[in-house]
Amino acid sequence: MRTIGMLGGMSWESSIEYYRLVNEEVRDRLGGLHSAPCVLHSVDFAPIEELQRAGDWDAAGARLAEHARQLERGGADLLVLCTNTMHKVADAVAGAVGIPFVHIADATALRLREAGVQRVGLLATRYTMEQDFYRGRLQERHGLEVLVPGEDDRGEVHRVIYEELCLGRVEPPSHARYVAVMEDLVARGAEAIVLGCTEIGLLVGDGDASVPLFDTTRLHVAAAVDAALAP
Ligand code: GLU
Repeated sequence: MRTIGMLGGMSWESSIEYYRLVNEEVRDRLGGLHSAPCVLHSVDFAPIEELQRAGDWDAAGARLAEHARQLERGGADLLVLCTNTMHKVADAVAGAVGIPFVHIADATALRLREAGVQRVGLLATRYTMEQDFYRGRLQERHGLEVLVPGEDDRGEVHRVIYEELCLGRVEPPSHARYVAVMEDLVARGAEAIVLGCTEIGLLVGDGDASVPLFDTTRLHVAAAVDAALAP
């Protein structure tokens, strides 16, 4: 089994989930006392978030690229960047190492296509909902149609991620708002909802929408374990 390199801390509230889920996934697939060989490099999120707000993605990419190299030197056989938003700099990160990079949007799109979904609603940070690096990849590379919430809802979905979920706060009013935003996307034709931020699964889950939810954290983990166990 290959060693999974996890570049996390963005935020650590979701990195804990990655750690738990990779181990559960390997246990479920291999049984017994099997668990996932992995290396976690967990960054301080505050300076990364400042670079996001400043729009200095090159500096953020350079920083994460260095951490990716550290993971490779630390024995990782494949690389998982544990955040959707920072896939904005996926090329810089993946290009810094010689090991395979498991892209979170590709892992998610594969499952959507397998499920026969064509039109998805996307909940994520503003960067992920509004910029092309993620939506564009789902649309152009995977042929999906992507719907995002309206301006006010995007602002609130984004705020809840940074001011609550990344700080470990799960608030009932935010749960209710997310449920309403998802139903609005369904009313506009979404056949499934992509939880396109690795913390959103802490707030909503199966049964909170009238269509299936595709949680990128879980799908990313499953793809990483597929790669770790591939012959
Ligand atoms: N974990 C989040 C994501 O998947 C947001 C935090 C970040 O900006 O990296 O996008």
